[in-house]
Amino acid sequence: LSAGIFIFGAISLSFIPVKEVSPYESQISKIMSKMTLEQKVGQMAQFSVDAVLKSKIPGVPDFPVEVDIDKVTHILGDLKAGSLLNTPAGIAQNTATWDKLNNQLQEIAMKANGIPMIFGVDAIHGANYTEGSVLFPQEIAMAATFNRQLVYEGAKVSAYEVRASITPWNFSPVLDMGRNPNWSRIWETYGEDPFLTSELGVACIKGYQGNDPNHVGMYNVAACLKHFMGYGVPVSGQDRTPALIPENELRERHLKPYAATIKAGALSVMVNSAIINGEPVHASHHILTDILKDELKFDGVVVTDWQDINNLYKRDRIASSDKEAIMISINAGVDMAMIPYDENYCKDLVALVKENKVSMSRIDDAVRRILRMKYRLGLFSKPTWKSTDYTNFGSAQSQQLAKSSADEAITLLKNKNYLLPLQKAYRILVTGPNADTKRSLNGGWSRNWQGDKTPEHEKAGATILEALQQKAGKDHVVYEPGVTYNEKGKYYDENSPEIDKAVAAAKGCDVIVACIGENSYCETPGNLTSLEMSKNQQALISELAKTGKPIVLILNEGRPRIFSDIEPLANAVVHTYLPGSYGSLSLADILYGDVNPSGKLPYTYPKYTNLLTTYDYKPSENREVMEGAYNYDANNAVQYPFGFGLSYTSFEYSNLKINKAHFNANDELEFTVTVKNTGKIAGKEAVLLFVSDDVASLTPDNKRLRAFEKVSLLAGETKTITLKVPASELAFVGLDNKWRLEAGSFTVRCGNQKLSINADETKVWESYLK
Ligand code: BGC
Repeated sequence: LSAGIFIFGAISLSFIPVKEVSPYESQISKIMSKMTLEQKVGQMAQFSVDAVLKSKIPGVPDFPVEVDIDKVTHILGDLKAGSLLNTPAGIAQNTATWDKLNNQLQEIAMKANGIPMIFGVDAIHGANYTEGSVLFPQEIAMAATFNRQLVYEGAKVSAYEVRASITPWNFSPVLDMGRNPNWSRIWETYGEDPFLTSELGVACIKGYQGNDPNHVGMYNVAACLKHFMGYGVPVSGQDRTPALIPENELRERHLKPYAATIKAGALSVMVNSAIINGEPVHASHHILTDILKDELKFDGVVVTDWQDINNLYKRDRIASSDKEAIMISINAGVDMAMIPYDENYCKDLVALVKENKVSMSRIDDAVRRILRMKYRLGLFSKPTWKSTDYTNFGSAQSQQLAKSSADEAITLLKNKNYLLPLQKAYRILVTGPNADTKRSLNGGWSRNWQGDKTPEHEKAGATILEALQQKAGKDHVVYEPGVTYNEKGKYYDENSPEIDKAVAAAKGCDVIVACIGENSYCETPGNLTSLEMSKNQQALISELAKTGKPIVLILNEGRPRIFSDIEPLANAVVHTYLPGSYGSLSLADILYGDVNPSGKLPYTYPKYTNLLTTYDYKPSENREVMEGAYNYDANNAVQYPFGFGLSYTSFEYSNLKINKAHFNANDELEFTVTVKNTGKIAGKEAVLLFVSDDVASLTPDNKRLRAFEKVSLLAGETKTITLKVPASELAFVGLDNKWRLEAGSFTVRCGNQKLSINADETKVWESYLK
């Protein structure tokens, strides 16, 4: 695979049509007028496909997959379930297995209800449950590209390969704010910034759904925005634990990416599994109905997260029975229950309607939304299709796209004395637990939930060791793991020690490439007790440093593990995030100078366990420090700031200008800035524009990302970039939960350029849809 960008058919992401009203309403009314209450309630249930497959070990289907006709007839026929989730992990595409499964299930569903059932799956970095699919970099790595087009193209390929696996509904993208680095799902997010998340979220859903959300084609899928909302900032840092988020903060930061993607036509939303301000979100009428359905005018499906209605009773203690939990959450605005506690869900919901505890109109609203999505996906006219028709599945082109994405994601954080790029003549020691595995390149949701059913045996891609051997020649590469992972049970902890062997090998080499970080994990099994890099990996680096050989530290991890004690021992630091199966090829190209790195951090990389912050939060420092743009390097508070990333060339910024130095709320601000590649090689630069409100009635954020653009520049080339920002975007949410743009000055920063602009009048908006 060669380097370079590769375009599948460019779309204009600046023009995002607002979704038209659904054209299916009269057809839906007609069907609903003939449905029984039991049929309607059935549509509101989603069971696991495991429950309908023949399986000797619970939850693990036998291959080739066989449907248990009695069970499926019960679930789709008697209970009249409208949806199933998950597909049997590990089946290769282009087998008749998929088609047989789909045909059997749809036949039973159609016979029972005349309504097709819908499969949903978590395909979050490619069709990750299907063997042979292209595994893209995970979301956090895609965020580091700061490249909307790459996100769009990757989502388009994912949609194609998910459809090829008979699934038209994808539980992706994650739009949670990755603002607590302890949280085990940071890598599933686009990082800590609401604007970056909104922009990439929109590009992603366009790639998944295509251009017209009312007519999602055969190569596209419905997106599911998750997890609505406020899931990413648990106070404890542990997954699915409570968050405290004042409503103005919730609206300003957490709502923003959902609002943008709903406006762009997203067809479904999954609810946050946790609790905000004491209220489980699955029970929140305010969040699910007042904000999501009424204020944002969302007309798609609201699905629960896994067993979360049941959790209102068993875990959250706001209901004294399962039945009461159903009543609370359906009344709050839930349309479909993912994994109801058991099949009594359907019976209980029917009873609740008969007892007037859940209104018929609430049921009708839910069912209408579910049928609307099925119509939008074309399932009524074409409930089955042939997976064998998807001949581009896993194509070389798609693999190249995954590789190009990793090229732009991988972030160079340190390069002392220009150790990188490496010379091919060097003899290198490749070491560390992440050096010879594809598992840590891919992370969770890779062939299975925890990513521990590794794609090692699959031919596609390479481990870092293999990629470096290919690049530098086997003769130049020595391998000693030094530290290895414990394969059983723990996903992020390691046992030790082959450190002495690695140190001995280092002595005969010119450079050490140490691949450290985390093994794959997902959700609660990835909870941490310390954000520090594991002790044995730190010991490996300390011992290797004693040899005096230069160290290139490769951070292959799903969240920013603190490594400040060993950072000074490294001459170069390269952050790969979870770059997918082809990320190792990108890394090798970057280490040897065949690709010029251009990734930038989508989160703040912390330095101390007791100093976790984000770049935008209101600073407590005095004004002078703030004037230094909350300069993390100067005050030494963090390891690397948000937006940081080095290149092998250098860029010079000049001439930052605005079309209107004085503006009003309805204006569009147009900035221009000139960027020059002042080095000797071509490079790409993510141009980031930040704005700070100088004085406001609530202490303003330090600064906020308001525009970005990725540009390619040949050596010596100069380009003038235009960055547009609607003035209304500079508003913040006051304590009255209204959006306000207050008159006064703002400071704009882009590269080393600075500009002062002024809002001439104050404006207040009632709702998000300003
Ligand atoms: C996760 C969701 C996922 C769902 C279905 C849950 O445990 O929180 O992100 O979509 O499972 O697999």
